[in-house]
Amino acid sequence: MPEKKVGIILDDDFGSKHLPPYPKPSFLSFEHPIRINAILNHLERNGIFKDKRIVKVKPKEIDEGILELAHSKYHIDVIKKISRVGGGLLDEEVFVTDETFDLAKKAVGGAIEAIEGVISNKYAQSFALIRPPGHHAYREKASGLCIFNNIATSILYLRNQLNFKQKIAIIDIDDHFGDGLAHIFYNDQSVLYFSIHEFDFTVGDLGMVDEIGIDEGIGKNINFPVPEGITNEDFHYCLDLLDPILNEFQPALIIVAAGFDMYYADPIGNCSLTSIAYNQFADKILKIAERVCEGRISFILEGGYDIIGLPYCVEAVIKALLKEKYEPPDYEKNISFLGDSRKEEIDKIKSFLKSLLNPYWDQI
Ligand SMILES: [Zn+2]
Repeated sequence: MPEKKVGIILDDDFGSKHLPPYPKPSFLSFEHPIRINAILNHLERNGIFKDKRIVKVKPKEIDEGILELAHSKYHIDVIKKISRVGGGLLDEEVFVTDETFDLAKKAVGGAIEAIEGVISNKYAQSFALIRPPGHHAYREKASGLCIFNNIATSILYLRNQLNFKQKIAIIDIDDHFGDGLAHIFYNDQSVLYFSIHEFDFTVGDLGMVDEIGIDEGIGKNINFPVPEGITNEDFHYCLDLLDPILNEFQPALIIVAAGFDMYYADPIGNCSLTSIAYNQFADKILKIAERVCEGRISFILEGGYDIIGLPYCVEAVIKALLKEKYEPPDYEKNISFLGDSRKEEIDKIKSFLKSLLNPYWDQI
């Protein structure tokens, strides 16, 4: 049997286009092409691309109509028109340049390639190194640095264009709640959305623990908000829940909304993870996937803005997929300011979450 490959979806444009026209430390400045350049240079330097199990792939070319699977024509036209006139600021958290429409469409094509490649057995697993990110984008609007919802559009593409009707689990490990993703699938029983995120919202109605889905989708939206400052240990303590959930849900595919902004040095997130946390997470989710869905996982890049740490976090995931030992960088080994575990607070949230889910799940 030929060895299974890991597909890495990349394109030079992600490392050069849709440049934020704002200086640091503006929030908008961090979603920068340098994120992708830093990752690719690091993977190249560390010989990842020399591994015969790794295949580099370009995003799938898609028609504009594909975007309409997840977005209103109005939203698509707004982005296109603002791009055509040279760009602008949509709200405080979304910038558009003259290249944004084309790059955001290419990012959707990247996620589709990653996900379609896994369900068609072209790759065992995949990782789409794309930007702009997508998990905050709603059907009707861009939000939080996200233009189009890369993961939601890909899932609806599988459903509508490839007639793939089996269950899909999205595990969102970005520091922030993927509100766009949650909304799009909130009443969908065939798409499980599980999000661990820092609970830092002042508005107070998004990503809360009691938002568990509606109608047929009830129980299939699982929010695990955590206090700022969580450690590697805390992160895994929360994610223990994935075992019973995925065992019972039995998805045919797992998609990871792979944000790395819980990294301790991230300029936007406020948590205390180091890169080994992502290695251990990928190892864990791979083992679950091997048990429930023949190892089918796609990682789709979301946030992660520390350009020193981000490449290590991505390498940590890829090493786990290749089942090779990951060696964290020396500078991570003796960090003295990571703070204490927040286990006591997490325990309360975990118990409450389990009590809310209990009526809808046998194993929780
Ligand atoms: Zn984020």
